[in-house]
Amino acid sequence: VTEFRGVPVSPGVALARLLLWPRKGEQQPAAGGEERSPEAEEARFRQAVESILHELHEERADLERRAGAETAAILEAHALIAADPELEGEVLRLIREEGLPAAQAILNAGNVMAELLGSLDDPYLSQRADDVRDVASRLAGAASGEVDRLPPIPWEHAIVVAEDLPPSRVARLDPARVAGLVCERGGATSHAAFIARSLGIPAVFATGRLPLSDGGYQAVLDGTEGRLIVEPEPAVVEQYRQRMAEEAARTVALEALRLLPGETRDGRRRVELAVNIGHPSEAEAALRAGAEGVGLFRTEFLFLDRRTPPSEQEQYEAYRSVLTAFGERPVIIRTLDIGGDKQVPYLNLPPEENPFLGWRGIRLWASREDLWRPQLRALLRAAPAGNLHIMLPMVASPDEVEAARGLLEEARRELAEQGTETGPYRLGIMIEVPAAVAVADQLAEAVDFFSIGTNDLTQYTLAVDRNNPRVTGLYRPLSPAVLRMVEQTVRAAHQAGIWCGMCGELAGSPAAAAVLIGLGLDELSMAAPALPPMKEAIRNLTLAQAEAAAAAALLRRKQA
Ligand code: PEP
Ligand code: MG
Repeated sequence: VTEFRGVPVSPGVALARLLLWPRKGEQQPAAGGEERSPEAEEARFRQAVESILHELHEERADLERRAGAETAAILEAHALIAADPELEGEVLRLIREEGLPAAQAILNAGNVMAELLGSLDDPYLSQRADDVRDVASRLAGAASGEVDRLPPIPWEHAIVVAEDLPPSRVARLDPARVAGLVCERGGATSHAAFIARSLGIPAVFATGRLPLSDGGYQAVLDGTEGRLIVEPEPAVVEQYRQRMAEEAARTVALEALRLLPGETRDGRRRVELAVNIGHPSEAEAALRAGAEGVGLFRTEFLFLDRRTPPSEQEQYEAYRSVLTAFGERPVIIRTLDIGGDKQVPYLNLPPEENPFLGWRGIRLWASREDLWRPQLRALLRAAPAGNLHIMLPMVASPDEVEAARGLLEEARRELAEQGTETGPYRLGIMIEVPAAVAVADQLAEAVDFFSIGTNDLTQYTLAVDRNNPRVTGLYRPLSPAVLRMVEQTVRAAHQAGIWCGMCGELAGSPAAAAVLIGLGLDELSMAAPALPPMKEAIRNLTLAQAEAAAAAALLRRKQA
Protein backbone atom coordinates (compact mmCIF):
# COMPACT_ATOMS: atom_id res chain seq x y z
CA VAL A 1 0.00 0.00 0.00
CA THR A 2 1.25 3.40 -0.87
CA GLU A 3 -0.58 6.60 -0.15
CA PHE A 4 0.02 9.95 -1.80
CA ARG A 5 -1.39 13.35 -0.93
CA GLY A 6 -2.31 16.25 -3.15
CA VAL A 7 -4.69 19.16 -3.38
CA PRO A 8 -8.34 18.07 -3.58
CA VAL A 9 -9.72 19.85 -6.64
CA SER A 10 -12.85 17.91 -7.58
CA PRO A 11 -14.84 15.96 -4.98
CA GLY A 12 -15.91 12.33 -5.12
CA VAL A 13 -14.35 8.89 -4.91
CA ALA A 14 -13.01 6.63 -7.67
CA LEU A 15 -12.03 3.00 -7.41
CA ALA A 16 -10.26 1.79 -10.55
CA ARG A 17 -6.95 0.84 -12.11
CA LEU A 18 -4.23 3.41 -12.61
CA LEU A 19 -3.36 4.53 -16.10
CA LEU A 20 -0.08 6.45 -16.38
CA TRP A 21 0.07 8.92 -19.22
CA PRO A 22 3.51 9.35 -20.80
CA ARG A 23 5.62 12.13 -19.31
CA LYS A 24 7.12 14.85 -21.44
CA GLY A 25 10.10 13.48 -23.29
CA GLU A 26 8.63 9.98 -23.30
CA GLN A 27 6.30 10.81 -26.16
CA GLN A 28 7.09 9.70 -29.68
CA PRO A 29 9.17 12.36 -31.45
CA ALA A 30 7.25 13.86 -34.33
CA ALA A 31 8.21 13.03 -37.86
CA GLY A 32 10.21 15.81 -39.46
CA GLY A 33 12.55 16.07 -42.35
CA GLU A 34 10.30 17.66 -44.90
CA GLU A 35 11.00 20.89 -46.63
CA ARG A 36 12.38 23.58 -44.30
CA SER A 37 11.99 26.97 -45.91
CA PRO A 38 10.44 29.93 -44.07
CA GLU A 39 7.57 29.78 -46.58
CA ALA A 40 6.95 26.11 -45.82
CA GLU A 41 7.11 26.81 -42.05
CA GLU A 42 4.72 29.70 -42.41
CA ALA A 43 2.31 27.45 -44.27
CA ARG A 44 2.66 24.84 -41.51
CA PHE A 45 1.85 27.45 -38.89
CA ARG A 46 -1.23 28.65 -40.74
CA GLN A 47 -2.46 25.12 -41.26
CA ALA A 48 -1.93 24.34 -37.60
CA VAL A 49 -3.99 27.39 -36.57
CA GLU A 50 -6.75 26.41 -38.91
CA SER A 51 -6.94 22.83 -37.78
CA ILE A 52 -6.79 23.70 -34.06
CA LEU A 53 -9.51 26.33 -34.52
CA HIS A 54 -11.63 23.71 -36.17
CA GLU A 55 -10.99 21.21 -33.37
CA LEU A 56 -11.70 23.80 -30.70
CA HIS A 57 -14.95 24.71 -32.35
CA GLU A 58 -16.17 21.12 -32.17
CA GLU A 59 -14.80 20.51 -28.68
CA ARG A 60 -16.47 23.66 -27.43
CA ALA A 61 -19.89 22.59 -28.66
CA ASP A 62 -19.35 19.16 -27.14
CA LEU A 63 -18.20 20.52 -23.78
CA GLU A 64 -21.10 22.97 -23.69
CA ARG A 65 -23.51 20.06 -23.96
CA ARG A 66 -21.71 18.08 -21.28
CA ALA A 67 -20.63 20.73 -18.78
CA GLY A 68 -22.48 23.98 -19.52
CA ALA A 69 -21.64 27.24 -21.19
CA GLU A 70 -19.49 28.72 -18.47
CA THR A 71 -17.08 25.80 -18.72
CA ALA A 72 -17.15 25.74 -22.50
CA ALA A 73 -16.22 29.45 -22.54
CA ILE A 74 -12.70 28.35 -21.55
CA LEU A 75 -12.31 26.75 -24.97
CA GLU A 76 -13.79 29.83 -26.58
CA ALA A 77 -10.96 31.78 -24.99
CA HIS A 78 -8.52 29.19 -26.36
CA ALA A 79 -9.79 29.90 -29.87
CA LEU A 80 -9.16 33.61 -29.33
CA ILE A 81 -5.59 32.83 -28.25
CA ALA A 82 -5.00 30.55 -31.26
CA ALA A 83 -6.13 33.34 -33.57
CA ASP A 84 -4.43 36.14 -31.63
CA PRO A 85 -2.78 38.62 -34.03
CA GLU A 86 0.08 39.36 -31.62
CA LEU A 87 0.92 35.70 -31.27
CA GLU A 88 0.76 35.36 -35.03
CA GLY A 89 3.04 38.38 -35.52
CA GLU A 90 5.68 37.01 -33.17
CA VAL A 91 5.56 33.50 -34.67
CA LEU A 92 5.96 34.89 -38.18
CA ARG A 93 8.84 37.09 -37.05
CA LEU A 94 10.64 34.11 -35.50
CA ILE A 95 10.12 32.05 -38.65
CA ARG A 96 11.16 34.77 -41.08
CA GLU A 97 13.90 36.57 -39.17
CA GLU A 98 15.36 33.81 -37.03
CA GLY A 99 14.70 30.90 -39.33
CA LEU A 100 13.00 28.80 -36.65
CA PRO A 101 10.81 25.86 -37.59
CA ALA A 102 7.10 26.58 -37.09
CA ALA A 103 6.68 24.39 -34.00
CA GLN A 104 9.62 25.99 -32.21
CA ALA A 105 8.54 29.49 -33.19
CA ILE A 106 5.06 28.83 -31.77
CA LEU A 107 6.44 27.49 -28.49
CA ASN A 108 8.82 30.44 -28.11
CA ALA A 109 6.19 33.02 -28.96
CA GLY A 110 3.71 31.32 -26.62
CA ASN A 111 6.24 31.35 -23.82
CA VAL A 112 6.93 35.06 -24.22
CA MET A 113 3.22 35.80 -24.12
CA ALA A 114 2.62 33.48 -21.14
CA GLU A 115 5.51 34.90 -19.16
CA LEU A 116 4.28 38.41 -19.70
CA LEU A 117 0.82 37.46 -18.42
CA GLY A 118 2.24 35.41 -15.56
CA SER A 119 4.41 38.29 -14.36
CA LEU A 120 1.45 40.62 -13.87
CA ASP A 121 0.65 39.45 -10.35
CA ASP A 122 -3.00 38.98 -11.16
CA PRO A 123 -4.54 35.55 -10.54
CA TYR A 124 -6.90 35.94 -13.51
CA LEU A 125 -4.09 36.73 -15.92
CA SER A 126 -1.74 34.06 -14.64
CA GLN A 127 -4.60 31.66 -15.29
CA ARG A 128 -4.56 32.97 -18.84
CA ALA A 129 -0.82 32.22 -18.99
CA ASP A 130 -1.57 28.50 -18.52
CA ASP A 131 -4.15 28.70 -21.28
CA VAL A 132 -1.64 30.34 -23.62
CA ARG A 133 0.89 27.56 -22.97
CA ASP A 134 -1.80 24.95 -23.53
CA VAL A 135 -2.82 26.45 -26.87
CA ALA A 136 0.81 27.00 -27.98
CA SER A 137 1.68 23.41 -27.24
CA ARG A 138 -1.33 22.18 -29.21
CA LEU A 139 -0.46 24.43 -32.14
CA ALA A 140 3.16 23.33 -32.07
CA GLY A 141 2.08 19.70 -32.06
CA ALA A 142 -0.18 20.28 -35.03
CA ALA A 143 2.58 22.15 -36.89
CA SER A 144 4.97 19.24 -36.51
CA GLY A 145 2.37 16.80 -37.76
CA GLU A 146 1.54 15.17 -34.42
CA VAL A 147 -1.98 13.98 -33.97
CA ASP A 148 -2.97 15.01 -30.47
CA ARG A 149 -4.90 11.95 -29.40
CA LEU A 150 -5.48 11.07 -25.79
CA PRO A 151 -3.84 7.74 -24.93
CA PRO A 152 -6.42 4.94 -25.17
CA ILE A 153 -7.97 3.58 -21.98
CA PRO A 154 -7.41 -0.16 -21.93
CA TRP A 155 -9.93 -0.91 -19.18
CA GLU A 156 -13.54 -0.08 -18.59
CA HIS A 157 -12.59 2.52 -15.98
CA ALA A 158 -9.30 4.12 -15.14
CA ILE A 159 -7.77 6.69 -12.84
CA VAL A 160 -5.58 8.74 -15.12
CA VAL A 161 -2.25 9.93 -13.73
CA ALA A 162 -0.49 12.69 -15.65
CA GLU A 163 2.44 14.98 -15.11
CA ASP A 164 0.54 17.92 -16.46
CA LEU A 165 -3.08 18.23 -17.52
CA PRO A 166 -3.82 21.16 -19.76
CA PRO A 167 -7.50 22.24 -19.78
CA SER A 168 -7.91 21.24 -23.41
CA ARG A 169 -7.10 17.63 -22.53
CA VAL A 170 -9.40 17.48 -19.50
CA ALA A 171 -12.15 18.89 -21.72
CA ARG A 172 -11.90 15.86 -23.96
CA LEU A 173 -12.09 13.21 -21.25
CA ASP A 174 -15.04 10.86 -21.13
CA PRO A 175 -16.34 10.71 -17.55
CA ALA A 176 -17.86 7.31 -18.33
CA ARG A 177 -14.34 5.86 -18.70
CA VAL A 178 -12.16 8.19 -16.65
CA ALA A 179 -13.13 7.52 -13.07
CA GLY A 180 -10.59 9.90 -11.57
CA LEU A 181 -7.76 12.25 -12.37
CA VAL A 182 -4.39 12.76 -10.74
CA CYS A 183 -2.08 15.52 -11.87
CA GLU A 184 1.41 15.93 -10.45
CA ARG A 185 1.22 19.68 -11.01
CA GLY A 186 -1.61 22.21 -11.24
CA GLY A 187 -3.84 23.70 -8.60
CA ALA A 188 -7.40 24.01 -7.41
CA THR A 189 -8.05 27.25 -9.24
CA SER A 190 -6.72 26.11 -12.61
CA HIS A 191 -9.05 25.86 -15.58
CA ALA A 192 -8.26 22.14 -15.76
CA ALA A 193 -9.62 21.74 -12.21
CA PHE A 194 -12.70 23.77 -13.06
CA ILE A 195 -13.47 21.54 -16.04
CA ALA A 196 -12.92 18.35 -14.01
CA ARG A 197 -15.41 19.65 -11.45
CA SER A 198 -18.03 20.50 -14.03
CA LEU A 199 -17.62 17.08 -15.65
CA GLY A 200 -18.00 15.50 -12.22
CA ILE A 201 -14.66 13.66 -12.38
CA PRO A 202 -13.02 13.33 -8.92
CA ALA A 203 -9.52 14.84 -9.09
CA VAL A 204 -6.41 15.44 -7.01
CA PHE A 205 -3.75 17.82 -8.30
CA ALA A 206 -0.28 18.97 -7.24
CA THR A 207 0.86 15.65 -5.81
CA GLY A 208 4.44 16.32 -6.84
CA ARG A 209 6.30 13.74 -8.86
CA LEU A 210 4.85 10.28 -8.11
CA PRO A 211 7.29 7.36 -7.93
CA LEU A 212 5.14 5.16 -10.15
CA SER A 213 6.61 3.45 -13.16
CA ASP A 214 3.79 1.17 -14.22
CA GLY A 215 0.06 1.52 -14.38
CA GLY A 216 -2.46 -1.23 -13.94
CA TYR A 217 -2.54 -1.21 -10.13
CA GLN A 218 -5.85 -0.98 -8.33
CA ALA A 219 -6.19 2.34 -6.59
CA VAL A 220 -8.59 4.54 -4.68
CA LEU A 221 -8.76 8.22 -5.48
CA ASP A 222 -10.39 10.45 -2.90
CA GLY A 223 -11.05 13.77 -4.61
CA THR A 224 -12.70 15.18 -1.49
CA GLU A 225 -9.73 14.62 0.80
CA GLY A 226 -6.95 14.81 -1.79
CA ARG A 227 -5.66 11.23 -1.47
CA LEU A 228 -4.45 8.58 -3.86
CA ILE A 229 -4.09 5.09 -2.33
CA VAL A 230 -2.31 2.59 -4.55
CA GLU A 231 -3.05 -1.11 -3.91
CA PRO A 232 -5.25 -0.40 -0.90
CA GLU A 233 -5.99 -2.99 1.81
CA PRO A 234 -9.29 -4.81 1.33
CA ALA A 235 -10.70 -3.04 4.40
CA VAL A 236 -9.95 0.35 2.88
CA VAL A 237 -11.54 -0.68 -0.41
CA GLU A 238 -14.61 -1.80 1.49
CA GLN A 239 -14.80 1.49 3.34
CA TYR A 240 -14.64 3.46 0.11
CA ARG A 241 -17.17 1.18 -1.59
CA GLN A 242 -19.54 1.99 1.21
CA ARG A 243 -18.94 5.69 0.82
CA MET A 244 -19.58 5.46 -2.91
CA ALA A 245 -22.82 3.61 -2.26
CA GLU A 246 -23.88 6.26 0.25
CA GLU A 247 -23.10 9.04 -2.21
CA ALA A 248 -25.04 7.26 -4.95
CA ALA A 249 -28.00 6.81 -2.60
CA ARG A 250 -27.87 10.47 -1.71
CA THR A 251 -27.91 11.45 -5.39
CA VAL A 252 -31.02 9.30 -5.87
CA ALA A 253 -32.64 10.86 -2.81
CA LEU A 254 -31.91 14.35 -4.08
CA GLU A 255 -33.23 13.38 -7.48
CA ALA A 256 -36.50 12.36 -5.83
CA LEU A 257 -36.82 15.91 -4.49
CA ARG A 258 -36.86 17.34 -7.97
CA LEU A 259 -40.59 17.76 -8.31
CA LEU A 260 -41.32 18.62 -4.68
CA PRO A 261 -41.77 22.27 -3.68
CA GLY A 262 -39.24 24.24 -1.63
CA GLU A 263 -41.33 24.44 1.52
CA THR A 264 -40.69 24.00 5.20
CA ARG A 265 -41.49 20.68 6.86
CA ASP A 266 -44.59 22.12 8.54
CA GLY A 267 -45.81 23.49 5.20
CA ARG A 268 -45.99 27.02 6.66
CA ARG A 269 -43.55 28.73 4.31
CA ARG A 270 -42.83 28.13 0.66
CA VAL A 271 -40.10 29.81 -1.37
CA GLU A 272 -39.58 29.74 -5.08
CA LEU A 273 -36.35 28.00 -6.06
CA ALA A 274 -34.81 29.38 -9.23
CA VAL A 275 -31.51 29.20 -11.07
CA ASN A 276 -28.74 31.53 -12.13
CA ILE A 277 -27.64 31.03 -15.73
CA GLY A 278 -25.20 32.72 -18.09
CA HIS A 279 -26.25 31.16 -21.37
CA PRO A 280 -29.44 29.74 -22.93
CA SER A 281 -27.82 26.30 -23.22
CA GLU A 282 -28.02 26.00 -19.42
CA ALA A 283 -31.81 26.23 -19.40
CA GLU A 284 -32.42 22.56 -19.98
CA ALA A 285 -30.16 21.29 -17.19
CA ALA A 286 -31.78 23.86 -14.90
CA LEU A 287 -35.24 22.56 -15.66
CA ARG A 288 -34.03 19.01 -15.12
CA ALA A 289 -32.69 20.04 -11.70
CA GLY A 290 -36.20 21.23 -10.81
CA ALA A 291 -35.89 24.99 -11.33
CA GLU A 292 -39.14 26.92 -10.91
CA GLY A 293 -37.79 29.85 -12.85
CA VAL A 294 -34.67 31.75 -13.80
CA GLY A 295 -33.78 34.11 -10.96
CA LEU A 296 -30.81 35.64 -12.73
CA PHE A 297 -29.70 35.44 -16.35
CA ARG A 298 -26.34 37.21 -16.41
CA THR A 299 -26.42 38.61 -19.93
CA GLU A 300 -22.81 39.77 -19.74
CA PHE A 301 -21.79 36.19 -20.55
CA LEU A 302 -23.19 36.77 -24.04
CA PHE A 303 -20.61 39.58 -24.34
CA LEU A 304 -17.52 37.90 -22.90
CA ASP A 305 -14.81 36.01 -24.77
CA ARG A 306 -15.52 37.44 -28.16
CA ARG A 307 -14.37 40.35 -30.30
CA THR A 308 -17.62 42.20 -31.05
CA PRO A 309 -20.86 42.60 -29.08
CA PRO A 310 -23.73 40.21 -29.86
CA SER A 311 -26.20 41.79 -32.29
CA GLU A 312 -29.81 42.61 -31.39
CA GLN A 313 -30.91 39.53 -33.33
CA GLU A 314 -28.44 37.24 -31.53
CA GLN A 315 -29.60 38.59 -28.18
CA TYR A 316 -33.26 38.24 -29.18
CA GLU A 317 -32.70 34.58 -30.04
CA ALA A 318 -30.89 33.92 -26.76
CA TYR A 319 -33.63 35.55 -24.65
CA ARG A 320 -36.46 33.98 -26.59
CA SER A 321 -34.95 30.53 -26.24
CA VAL A 322 -34.79 30.77 -22.42
CA LEU A 323 -38.28 32.31 -22.20
CA THR A 324 -39.69 29.56 -24.39
CA ALA A 325 -37.98 26.80 -22.39
CA PHE A 326 -39.45 28.13 -19.12
CA GLY A 327 -42.93 28.80 -20.50
CA GLU A 328 -45.10 30.38 -17.81
CA ARG A 329 -42.38 30.24 -15.20
CA PRO A 330 -40.73 33.60 -14.51
CA VAL A 331 -37.42 34.37 -16.23
CA ILE A 332 -35.44 37.28 -14.82
CA ILE A 333 -33.06 38.68 -17.39
CA ARG A 334 -30.57 41.17 -16.03
CA THR A 335 -29.46 44.01 -18.26
CA LEU A 336 -25.75 44.12 -19.02
CA ASP A 337 -23.62 44.29 -15.87
CA ILE A 338 -20.18 45.10 -17.24
CA GLY A 339 -17.41 46.88 -15.37
CA GLY A 340 -16.02 46.05 -11.93
CA ASP A 341 -14.34 42.67 -12.30
CA LYS A 342 -16.06 41.89 -15.62
CA GLN A 343 -14.19 43.59 -18.42
CA VAL A 344 -14.97 43.48 -22.11
CA PRO A 345 -11.95 44.60 -24.14
CA TYR A 346 -13.81 45.61 -27.31
CA LEU A 347 -15.98 48.13 -25.44
CA ASN A 348 -12.87 50.27 -25.00
CA LEU A 349 -13.66 51.35 -21.49
CA PRO A 350 -11.15 53.63 -19.82
CA PRO A 351 -9.07 52.03 -17.03
CA GLU A 352 -10.30 53.05 -13.58
CA GLU A 353 -8.60 53.42 -10.23
CA ASN A 354 -11.52 51.74 -8.39
CA PRO A 355 -13.53 49.78 -10.94
CA PHE A 356 -15.98 48.41 -8.35
CA LEU A 357 -16.85 51.99 -7.43
CA GLY A 358 -16.75 53.14 -10.98
CA TRP A 359 -18.55 53.02 -14.26
CA ARG A 360 -20.26 49.66 -13.98
CA GLY A 361 -23.70 48.09 -14.27
CA ILE A 362 -26.58 50.43 -15.00
CA ARG A 363 -24.36 53.51 -14.86
CA LEU A 364 -22.37 52.35 -17.86
CA TRP A 365 -25.19 50.61 -19.73
CA ALA A 366 -27.68 53.48 -19.54
CA SER A 367 -25.14 55.95 -20.86
CA ARG A 368 -24.13 53.82 -23.83
CA GLU A 369 -26.84 53.75 -26.43
CA ASP A 370 -24.94 51.09 -28.38
CA LEU A 371 -25.49 48.81 -25.36
CA TRP A 372 -28.99 49.58 -24.06
CA ARG A 373 -30.83 50.02 -27.32
CA PRO A 374 -30.12 46.62 -28.90
CA GLN A 375 -30.56 44.87 -25.56
CA LEU A 376 -33.91 46.47 -24.72
CA ARG A 377 -35.21 45.95 -28.25
CA ALA A 378 -34.18 42.29 -28.10
CA LEU A 379 -35.87 41.85 -24.70
CA LEU A 380 -39.12 43.52 -25.75
CA ARG A 381 -39.24 41.48 -28.96
CA ALA A 382 -38.64 38.26 -27.02
CA ALA A 383 -41.25 39.08 -24.35
CA PRO A 384 -44.23 37.38 -26.06
CA ALA A 385 -42.36 34.03 -25.80
CA GLY A 386 -42.70 33.68 -22.02
CA ASN A 387 -42.87 35.34 -18.63
CA LEU A 388 -40.28 38.10 -18.91
CA HIS A 389 -38.87 39.96 -15.92
CA ILE A 390 -36.24 42.60 -16.63
CA MET A 391 -33.79 43.36 -13.83
CA LEU A 392 -31.44 46.34 -13.49
CA PRO A 393 -28.09 45.87 -11.68
CA MET A 394 -26.25 48.31 -9.38
CA VAL A 395 -29.22 50.61 -8.81
CA ALA A 396 -28.69 53.08 -5.96
CA SER A 397 -31.58 55.49 -6.34
CA PRO A 398 -35.16 55.68 -7.74
CA ASP A 399 -34.22 58.16 -10.46
CA GLU A 400 -32.06 55.49 -12.08
CA VAL A 401 -35.12 53.28 -12.33
CA GLU A 402 -37.11 56.11 -13.88
CA ALA A 403 -34.34 56.75 -16.41
CA ALA A 404 -34.31 53.05 -17.37
CA ARG A 405 -38.11 53.10 -17.74
CA GLY A 406 -37.68 56.01 -20.12
CA LEU A 407 -35.26 53.95 -22.22
CA LEU A 408 -37.69 51.00 -22.21
CA GLU A 409 -40.51 53.27 -23.34
CA GLU A 410 -38.36 54.67 -26.09
CA ALA A 411 -37.41 51.20 -27.33
CA ARG A 412 -41.05 50.12 -27.23
CA ARG A 413 -42.22 53.18 -29.15
CA GLU A 414 -39.58 52.61 -31.78
CA LEU A 415 -40.57 48.96 -32.21
CA ALA A 416 -44.25 49.90 -32.41
CA GLU A 417 -43.52 52.42 -35.13
CA GLN A 418 -41.75 49.69 -37.05
CA GLY A 419 -44.75 47.41 -36.60
CA THR A 420 -42.76 44.89 -34.53
CA GLU A 421 -44.59 42.89 -31.91
CA THR A 422 -43.57 43.33 -28.27
CA GLY A 423 -44.87 41.78 -25.07
CA PRO A 424 -45.43 42.60 -21.41
CA TYR A 425 -42.72 42.44 -18.75
CA ARG A 426 -42.15 43.19 -15.11
CA LEU A 427 -39.35 45.49 -14.03
CA GLY A 428 -37.23 44.83 -10.98
CA ILE A 429 -33.83 45.69 -9.55
CA MET A 430 -30.89 44.07 -7.86
CA ILE A 431 -30.38 45.24 -4.31
CA GLU A 432 -26.60 45.12 -4.09
CA VAL A 433 -25.53 48.64 -3.12
CA PRO A 434 -26.05 49.75 0.51
CA ALA A 435 -27.64 52.97 -0.76
CA ALA A 436 -30.43 50.92 -2.31
CA VAL A 437 -31.13 49.29 1.06
CA ALA A 438 -31.29 52.69 2.73
CA VAL A 439 -33.96 53.86 0.28
CA ALA A 440 -35.55 50.45 -0.26
CA ASP A 441 -38.99 51.87 0.67
CA GLN A 442 -38.78 54.39 -2.18
CA LEU A 443 -37.40 51.83 -4.62
CA ALA A 444 -40.12 49.34 -3.73
CA GLU A 445 -42.71 51.85 -4.94
CA ALA A 446 -40.89 52.17 -8.25
CA VAL A 447 -40.52 48.50 -9.25
CA ASP A 448 -42.27 45.11 -9.35
CA PHE A 449 -39.67 43.05 -7.48
CA PHE A 450 -36.30 43.03 -5.70
CA SER A 451 -33.49 40.49 -5.89
CA ILE A 452 -30.71 40.83 -3.36
CA GLY A 453 -27.20 40.43 -4.79
CA THR A 454 -25.26 39.37 -1.72
CA ASN A 455 -21.99 39.04 -3.65
CA ASP A 456 -21.80 42.77 -4.14
CA LEU A 457 -23.89 43.79 -1.15
CA THR A 458 -21.39 41.99 1.09
CA GLN A 459 -18.38 43.65 -0.48
CA TYR A 460 -19.90 47.14 -0.38
CA THR A 461 -21.37 46.79 3.11
CA LEU A 462 -18.26 45.34 4.73
CA ALA A 463 -15.83 47.26 2.49
CA VAL A 464 -14.17 43.98 1.52
CA ASP A 465 -13.18 43.40 -2.11
CA ARG A 466 -14.90 40.18 -3.21
CA ASN A 467 -11.86 39.13 -5.27
CA ASN A 468 -8.97 40.16 -3.04
CA PRO A 469 -7.40 36.98 -1.57
CA ARG A 470 -5.87 38.97 1.32
CA VAL A 471 -9.26 39.82 2.76
CA THR A 472 -11.28 36.71 1.93
CA GLY A 473 -11.38 35.96 5.66
CA LEU A 474 -13.34 39.17 6.15
CA TYR A 475 -15.79 38.50 3.34
CA ARG A 476 -18.79 37.29 5.34
CA PRO A 477 -22.24 37.37 3.76
CA LEU A 478 -23.70 35.96 6.98
CA SER A 479 -22.41 38.73 9.18
CA PRO A 480 -25.13 40.59 11.11
CA ALA A 481 -24.32 43.77 9.18
CA VAL A 482 -25.22 42.16 5.85
CA LEU A 483 -28.16 40.21 7.26
CA ARG A 484 -29.67 43.38 8.71
CA MET A 485 -29.48 44.87 5.22
CA VAL A 486 -31.34 41.81 3.92
CA GLU A 487 -33.98 42.09 6.61
CA GLN A 488 -34.54 45.78 5.96
CA THR A 489 -34.88 45.13 2.24
CA VAL A 490 -37.40 42.29 2.65
CA ARG A 491 -39.44 44.39 5.05
CA ALA A 492 -39.56 47.36 2.66
CA ALA A 493 -40.57 45.08 -0.22
CA HIS A 494 -43.39 43.42 1.71
CA GLN A 495 -44.68 46.72 3.03
CA ALA A 496 -45.01 47.93 -0.54
CA GLY A 497 -46.61 44.66 -1.62
CA ILE A 498 -43.81 43.41 -3.87
CA TRP A 499 -41.75 40.24 -3.58
CA CYS A 500 -38.07 40.00 -2.68
CA GLY A 501 -35.65 37.27 -3.79
CA MET A 502 -31.94 36.67 -3.51
CA CYS A 503 -29.53 35.69 -6.30
CA GLY A 504 -26.06 36.05 -4.75
CA GLU A 505 -24.04 32.93 -3.87
CA LEU A 506 -25.50 32.92 -0.36
CA ALA A 507 -28.89 31.94 -1.79
CA GLY A 508 -27.49 28.51 -2.72
CA SER A 509 -25.86 27.73 0.60
CA PRO A 510 -27.73 25.01 2.56
CA ALA A 511 -25.95 26.17 5.73
CA ALA A 512 -27.75 29.52 5.36
CA ALA A 513 -31.16 28.02 4.52
CA ALA A 514 -32.67 28.53 7.97
CA VAL A 515 -31.60 32.17 8.22
CA LEU A 516 -32.79 32.99 4.69
CA ILE A 517 -36.20 31.39 5.20
CA GLY A 518 -36.47 33.08 8.59
CA LEU A 519 -35.73 36.48 7.04
CA GLY A 520 -38.76 36.04 4.80
CA LEU A 521 -37.22 35.87 1.34
CA ASP A 522 -39.77 34.87 -1.31
CA GLU A 523 -37.38 33.43 -3.85
CA LEU A 524 -33.85 32.01 -3.87
CA SER A 525 -31.84 31.72 -7.06
CA MET A 526 -28.66 29.66 -7.36
CA ALA A 527 -26.45 27.59 -9.66
CA ALA A 528 -28.37 24.51 -10.83
CA PRO A 529 -26.27 21.94 -8.90
CA ALA A 530 -27.05 23.78 -5.64
CA LEU A 531 -30.82 23.34 -6.08
CA PRO A 532 -31.35 19.81 -4.70
CA PRO A 533 -29.25 20.22 -1.52
CA MET A 534 -30.83 23.62 -0.86
CA LYS A 535 -34.30 22.21 -1.30
CA GLU A 536 -33.43 19.35 1.04
CA ALA A 537 -32.23 21.79 3.71
CA ILE A 538 -35.42 23.87 3.47
CA ARG A 539 -37.68 20.82 3.62
CA ASN A 540 -35.97 19.72 6.83
CA LEU A 541 -36.81 22.96 8.66
CA THR A 542 -39.83 24.23 10.49
CA LEU A 543 -40.74 27.88 10.13
CA ALA A 544 -40.23 28.37 13.88
CA GLN A 545 -36.69 27.01 13.64
CA ALA A 546 -35.95 29.25 10.67
CA GLU A 547 -37.28 32.33 12.42
CA ALA A 548 -35.29 31.58 15.54
CA ALA A 549 -32.13 31.11 13.45
CA ALA A 550 -32.68 34.44 11.70
CA ALA A 551 -33.37 36.31 14.93
CA ALA A 552 -30.20 34.92 16.51
CA ALA A 553 -28.09 35.69 13.45
CA LEU A 554 -29.25 39.33 13.42
CA LEU A 555 -28.21 39.79 17.03
CA ARG A 556 -24.83 38.06 16.90
CA ARG A 557 -21.94 40.28 17.95
CA LYS A 558 -19.43 38.55 15.76
CA GLN A 559 -18.89 38.66 12.04
CA ALA A 560 -20.56 35.20 11.78
C1 PEP B 1 -24.38 39.73 -6.75
O1 PEP B 1 -23.71 40.76 -6.76
O2 PEP B 1 -24.70 39.12 -5.71
C2 PEP B 1 -24.84 39.14 -8.03
C3 PEP B 1 -25.68 38.13 -8.04
O3 PEP B 1 -24.34 39.65 -9.18
P1 PEP B 1 -22.87 39.39 -9.74
O4 PEP B 1 -22.27 38.24 -8.95
O5 PEP B 1 -23.07 39.05 -11.18
O6 PEP B 1 -22.18 40.69 -9.52
MG1 MG C 1 -23.53 42.03 -8.48
